Amino acid sequence: MKKVLIIGAGGVGAVVAHKCAQVPEVFGDIMLASRTQSKCDAIAKELPRPVRTAALDADNVPETIQLIQSFLPDLVINVALPYQDLHIMDACLATGVNYLDTANYEPPDEARFAYAWQWAYHDSFKERGIMALLGSGFDPGATNVFCAYAQKHHFDEIHQLDIIDCNAGDHGKPFATNFNPEINIREVTARGRYWEHGEWLETDPLSWSMNFDFPGGIGLKKCYLLYHEELESLVRNVTGIKRARFWMTFSDTYLMHLKVLENVGMTRIDPIMYHGREVIPIQFLKAMLPDPASLGPLTKGKTCIGCLMKGVKSGKEKTVFIYNICDHEACFREVKAQAISYTTGVPAMIGGLLMLTGEWAGNGVFNMEQMDPDPFMERMNKHGLPWQEVVTG
Ligand code: NDP
Repeated sequence: MKKVLIIGAGGVGAVVAHKCAQVPEVFGDIMLASRTQSKCDAIAKELPRPVRTAALDADNVPETIQLIQSFLPDLVINVALPYQDLHIMDACLATGVNYLDTANYEPPDEARFAYAWQWAYHDSFKERGIMALLGSGFDPGATNVFCAYAQKHHFDEIHQLDIIDCNAGDHGKPFATNFNPEINIREVTARGRYWEHGEWLETDPLSWSMNFDFPGGIGLKKCYLLYHEELESLVRNVTGIKRARFWMTFSDTYLMHLKVLENVGMTRIDPIMYHGREVIPIQFLKAMLPDPASLGPLTKGKTCIGCLMKGVKSGKEKTVFIYNICDHEACFREVKAQAISYTTGVPAMIGGLLMLTGEWAGNGVFNMEQMDPDPFMERMNKHGLPWQEVVTG
């Protein structure tokens, strides 16, 4: 019987807990730990079988080590915030336990995410004989696996990659983010970045857009170029890549609110003095915005996230689009969460399942596309994220 420790009880943590609870033959014993234990207890009450809960400040490495030593999990799934990644990896190293996350490390005082910090753990994880699987959400996560699947089954070389993320859902709020507001706003307001002909090129934030006709009845939507973390590993691991970009849809209302918040300084990540005490504006803003987990019952519509790839097979040009469509209301009916949390939490459970069954194994730190995509793609169909592909050429 395998044991899993899930850290983080937000929107994504709730979905991971639900989905792990649905697979008792793999996740025999589950503990959900987070900064606020009452959130873990509230999730636990909704689950079809008993799970343990605990209070944990995952920035405190000795505390995390102690919890791991008392529960003795086979795997730690980190769905707290990117700021905790290195601390939780340190605790896993100290205790010899495998690690999985959905977002790469980001220092709290600098809006810059990169894999370098976590890749630096490769040798120590390898020597310890344990595995870290990075970015097992949807994007990063399923998108990396889509690339690996296309590489394995469709292409000799993939020359152009466009990852396209559309949330066509509507929660009826004037402004809200679908996952942690602080992380989301830091990502969206950063400079755009894409890979072309062997180098990174930058764009002003949200200054490039294109229209894309999404399947599943979603239709034409405007998408904006963003820098997204999976590009960093994919340009290393995809054979023949010449250009890699990431696009996301935003409504005009979202962009208008974001611009105003930015213009008045509410998205700043540096402290300001207010009534004699330091306040970080973006953290204050987070406290006022709707909790992403609360959007579940309100959100209607669909998401479509996919990889559009152009390349060659046996000397012939080929285009492949692999995507998933997910319905917000169907997710809520199943696990009481909206589709952004769902599309992140299901791949986290699948990555964990493949590690625990040994179908994905290795010593060191790995990105998703370094693993065999087939068992993951098969589990996506089985566990609520069916995918489709359109192949031309
Ligand atoms: P939330 O803000 O809803 O939840 C984060 C949870 O982590 C909260 O329960 C919070 O506790 C807890 N937490 C924060 N700090 C600590 C700490 N020091 N110790 C223990 N627990 C802590 O975020 P989401 O659920 O929306 O997102 C979770 C993760 O998923 C993020 O890293 C996000 O970037 C990632 N993500 C990845 C995606 C992908 O496709 N790859 C897509 C969407 C999200 P408290 O309740 O007390 O604040």
